[in-house]
Amino acid sequence: MDRVKDSKQPAEERIKNFNEVAHGYTEKQAVAEAGRCLQCKKPPCVKGCPVEIDIPGFIKKIKEKKFEEALDVIYKTNLLPAVCGRVCPQETQCEILCVLGKKGAPVAIGKLERFVADRGGKSMSCPVASAGAAAGQKVAVVGSGPAGLTCAAELAKCGVKVTVFEALHAPGGVLIYGIPEFRLPKKTVNGEIELLEKLGAEIKTDVIVGRTVTIDDVFEMGYKAVFIGSGAGLPSFMGVPGENLLRVYSANEFLTRVNLMKGYLFPEYDTPVTTGEKVAVIGGGNVAMDSARSALRLGAKEVTVLYRRTGKEMPARKEEFEHAVEEGIKFVFLVQPLEVIGDENGYVKGIKVIHNKLGEPDESGRCRPVPVEGTEEVLPVDSVIVAIGQNPSPLIPLTYKKLATGRKGNIIVNDETCETNIPGIFAGGDIATGAATVISAMGMGRTAAKSIMKYLSAKKD
Ligand code: FAD
Ligand code: SF4
Ligand code: SF4
Repeated sequence: MDRVKDSKQPAEERIKNFNEVAHGYTEKQAVAEAGRCLQCKKPPCVKGCPVEIDIPGFIKKIKEKKFEEALDVIYKTNLLPAVCGRVCPQETQCEILCVLGKKGAPVAIGKLERFVADRGGKSMSCPVASAGAAAGQKVAVVGSGPAGLTCAAELAKCGVKVTVFEALHAPGGVLIYGIPEFRLPKKTVNGEIELLEKLGAEIKTDVIVGRTVTIDDVFEMGYKAVFIGSGAGLPSFMGVPGENLLRVYSANEFLTRVNLMKGYLFPEYDTPVTTGEKVAVIGGGNVAMDSARSALRLGAKEVTVLYRRTGKEMPARKEEFEHAVEEGIKFVFLVQPLEVIGDENGYVKGIKVIHNKLGEPDESGRCRPVPVEGTEEVLPVDSVIVAIGQNPSPLIPLTYKKLATGRKGNIIVNDETCETNIPGIFAGGDIATGAATVISAMGMGRTAAKSIMKYLSAKKD
């Protein structure tokens, strides 16, 4: 039987709104898709999931129409299933290892996870460790992205008193300020955060650790351990002339204005985001796809993604690329910016680019783009969105210099335990790895929670 497809908003309709693109499975579709799973005795798919969900276990429950029980199976190890079911790169994580993928399409594990999460169920239980001596001790978590939320929830389940300090006015990290509504509705994220709060974790927003309070202050406040999950919120820039012109945005700024500040609901919300008619997006990852598709929905007439390699090397999820193409986003491959050109008022009026050819593979294993002399041209555009990568947020390493950091400003941790070089301080997610994925951040949050439980118990003895 072929993989069951869910329905989605037609491209010509969805480019006029910010509503979710994919509708998700109906009950009938989910049960049919669950029926494709072979219930492997040694399931390879589980090895691809950083939080080790019992994948055949929850799929079996769906097949039996025991949907709440399916959700309980997932909650044992994953506290954000509605989020992961939507944005996890399943095709390169669990689904790529599914045995059905050898001869056809793998089981749609992510879509099934989304289905049970959206139906809802009982609250999560199953702590990562027994409470023991750690129960009632205070732990601080810095940052409320997937790493921080997962660590906080796992600790709260163990009876630890957790406070999450979040710099922004709303919790969720990239899930709230970065990934657009049409891919991950905010009510879905908030629903999962509310569940975590029900476990007893307290979230304090508008607290910038390193400014409002320092790490030393946090320990003085009685917290026995700290988990840092401050993410990779520092955008990279191109380093070309004209990058400071009006209507050149970093993707972070652009998406934060659109999502967190609700620019897409202007004038109901007072955050105008202007792009003009022609938009160039620089980059080829998920952030570039999100920026391009958001610009289109804000009313731009023509949005072009400029990527320095070919479509084959593009890091964006295949599904997001396909959605972007369906929506009419244009792609120009093998091209890189040389200069942003402005008008007499300081606004962008064009972008000068040079065409590339592919050279030898670089350290990432992908072919290096090599500029071809004499191929320069100016493309007329009204705005430029730069989505060429994010770096670890620098504030905590800058204000707490005892922490060992890597070449790119990431906090160095022990891969097995998420311990930093300072006893009692743990870190995980993008601040440790550099920009990665939701599920890898969650995996590290869970690992850190286990280590913190051990640390607290040993300290008490
Ligand atoms: P974040 O989610 O960045 O959260 C860090 C939090 O810490 C933020 O809320 C920040 O405000 C807070 N913070 C920072 N400094 C401080 C401080 N000093 N004091 C207090 N709080 C602080 N991954 C996928 O798997 N699939 C996708 O489809 C996908 N799409 C993406 C689209 C975009 C636009 C972006 C930007 C990223 C995307 N990613 C995707 C990557 C994924 O979102 C990140 O890897 C993940 O969110 C990292 O989680 P985190 O908890 O480490 O950090
Ligand atoms: Fe797959 Fe991600 Fe779900 Fe794990 S959390 S089963 S990797 S979709
Ligand atoms: Fe089911 Fe595929 Fe996992 Fe086997 S590998 S248990 S078929 S999802």
